Amino acid sequence: MLTMNAESFRQHAHQFVDWMADYLEQVENYPVKSQVRPKDIYHQIPEKAPMEGESMDQLFQDFQQIILPGITHWQSPNFFAYFPANNSYPSLLAEMLTATLGAQCMIWETSPAAAELEERMMNWLGQLIGIPDNWEGVIQATASEATLSAILSARERLSDFEVNRSGLMNQDRMRVYGSSQTHSSIEKAVKIAGLGKENFLGVAVNEDFSMSPSALREAIQSDLQAGIQPLCVVATLGTTSTTAIDPLQKIADICSEFGIWLHVDAAYAGSALALPEYRWMIEGLEQADSFVFNPHKWMLTHFDCSAYFVKDPDQLVRTFEILPEYLKTRADRVVNNYRDWGIPLGRRFRALKLWFVLRSYGVEGIQAFLREQIQITRNIKQQILDERSFEILAPVNLNLICFRYCPEGVEDLDELNARLLHRLNDSGAMYLTHTKLNGKYVLRLVFGAARLSRSHAQQAWNTIRETVYEMGIEF
Ligand code: PLP
Repeated sequence: MLTMNAESFRQHAHQFVDWMADYLEQVENYPVKSQVRPKDIYHQIPEKAPMEGESMDQLFQDFQQIILPGITHWQSPNFFAYFPANNSYPSLLAEMLTATLGAQCMIWETSPAAAELEERMMNWLGQLIGIPDNWEGVIQATASEATLSAILSARERLSDFEVNRSGLMNQDRMRVYGSSQTHSSIEKAVKIAGLGKENFLGVAVNEDFSMSPSALREAIQSDLQAGIQPLCVVATLGTTSTTAIDPLQKIADICSEFGIWLHVDAAYAGSALALPEYRWMIEGLEQADSFVFNPHKWMLTHFDCSAYFVKDPDQLVRTFEILPEYLKTRADRVVNNYRDWGIPLGRRFRALKLWFVLRSYGVEGIQAFLREQIQITRNIKQQILDERSFEILAPVNLNLICFRYCPEGVEDLDELNARLLHRLNDSGAMYLTHTKLNGKYVLRLVFGAARLSRSHAQQAWNTIRETVYEMGIEF
């Protein structure tokens, strides 16, 4: 039995929108990282679904009392962890419309507007960040899916679609290369593609944590001598630990020389390509085969929205294509059926939020947003450099600072910095995460939250300094 009619939906929706606007306006007042313990939420949820429907008022009350304390507030301007998952009001409004339409956009016919807007939005995005004109794009859910798509396409190109036909049994070993700093999604994709994770090779990096082209060349040559087929190189623009930028042109030259698929993972840093001053990062891209970046990370667009571009869409479609009778339509030959451009059949209408974001902000608005965050980062970097008891352990390429507290006379700096991290996060005032660089425990501060202002960034740095002071170690 339906518990709600249009009138009560309208009433609750208005109430929720008020709550949503208040929440986003006041989000910085919540403890950023959820303070609950494991299973706290689970035990508050009844063991069985109710037999009789419950009221929306009751549900909303439980949302506020049970669920909200278990939420980490990603939209807080005091969120400095991982990489951000930006959103914005225009994106949120588009998501409301998308949810209302409830369209399943697997093929053109199931919503022509979704397919055609997606085609246009990928053109707009491509122009915005400098993707070569003759490439085409598709929106996927995550960079992990896009990278898997790239590795599967590379596998099919190398085997002339033999793996699709008869499996991997009669194939020589195939190798995928990334730097030792590449994201874990690359190794995961190698496993899923059936290549065996031993066939992912993490190439050595330079001092700035970018891939060493000479080490890549040596690895390829030694594999060839051993009878292993080089399949794909993944170059990262903006690694997860430090935002290191792999030297694309040099890597692209090596891939061209050996005929290897080149995939570019710019999941985070790709947004910065909207700024002409960062376009140097993609010099050599025209020699690559595929590229991914996530507007859902640093371009004000809700998760999920991962932009995957390919030089040869036929290669992608041939890798995934499967055409059962029940999906055939009269338009098939003249439209893009995006079900064949990636792994799932079902697809959400994701282009709408991009349309709303790109039109609301305009190119200049997005550029101003990115530039402001990079400037905020530079200001804080200078303050960290001015402080004798802190050090920065990786180049600050964009809006991430990798630093640690290193007062004189303390032997176990890893333990000290882990303690500092937990104390900061447990305070609720801010949330940051860590990584390890050359064996050292390092704190990461990412200045990428959509609602971040200079005063939030300053407050974060002040809190860090006050906290080390409170920890009883003078600097
Ligand atoms: N690649 C890089 C460089 C990343 O930093 C991340 C996530 O942070 C990913 C890939 C995976 O992104 P997704 O969550 O969209 O799969």
